[in-house]
Amino acid sequence: MSKLFIVSTPIGNLGDITLRSIEVLKSVDLILAEDTRTSSKLLKHYNIDTVVESFHMHNEHKKLESIIKKLRDNREIVLISDAGTPGISDPGFLLVRECIKNDLEVECLPGPTAFVPALVSSGLPTDRFSFEGFLPVKKGRTKRLKELSDQTKTMVFYESPHRILKTLKDFSKYFNDESQISISRELTKLFEETFRGTIKDSIEHFEKTKPKGEFVIVLSPK
Ligand code: SAM
Repeated sequence: MSKLFIVSTPIGNLGDITLRSIEVLKSVDLILAEDTRTSSKLLKHYNIDTVVESFHMHNEHKKLESIIKKLRDNREIVLISDAGTPGISDPGFLLVRECIKNDLEVECLPGPTAFVPALVSSGLPTDRFSFEGFLPVKKGRTKRLKELSDQTKTMVFYESPHRILKTLKDFSKYFNDESQISISRELTKLFEETFRGTIKDSIEHFEKTKPKGEFVIVLSPK
């Protein structure tokens, strides 16, 4: 039966993949991968020899029609991204929407994503939160920060090492710089660590210690 599976892949530690994800990756007709070279490491590790094609932000519009056709022809297809859950700050949304429009079945298997471990280990309220992903780099950045300054839920951001200090400095402008923040880096990897303190403390910390790796920022509302 035709189906699009969304499968989450490890965010660092190769062991973080579910047994069912491996079974599905082995049994389908085709794997769509954001970067076929990046995913080949994981697929080799688990002896998965399913055919792999690329599906990324630069070709997703172009490939939609042919993927829908394959699904209509009763194929089973898996979408994976470089790390974590497809559709979470990664390609996926367009394809899922198109499948639903075409009455094709979609199943998302639960699995790794970076924001959940960062949020849960932050010690900040988890009952209500808003996932903000990456802040706009230029256009729309100020507007978004102004909107968020009224937020009443815990906020979760993704950020790169090059921009994190700028983002923390922007937070100190739009939020109270005594607000609690938790910054997790390199989750599930060798140099995993979490900084917890105020926005002000975090700026001092990253001015002393050069930010390296991948970051998730969890911020307390005002
Ligand atoms: N789809 C992924 C997910 O489900 O989390 C997110 C992909 S997005 C392109 C990459 C961003 O996710 C990084 O810039 C970082 O903010 C966050 N991220 C991914 N892996 C991480 C890790 N091991 N530790 C901390 N942050 C991570």
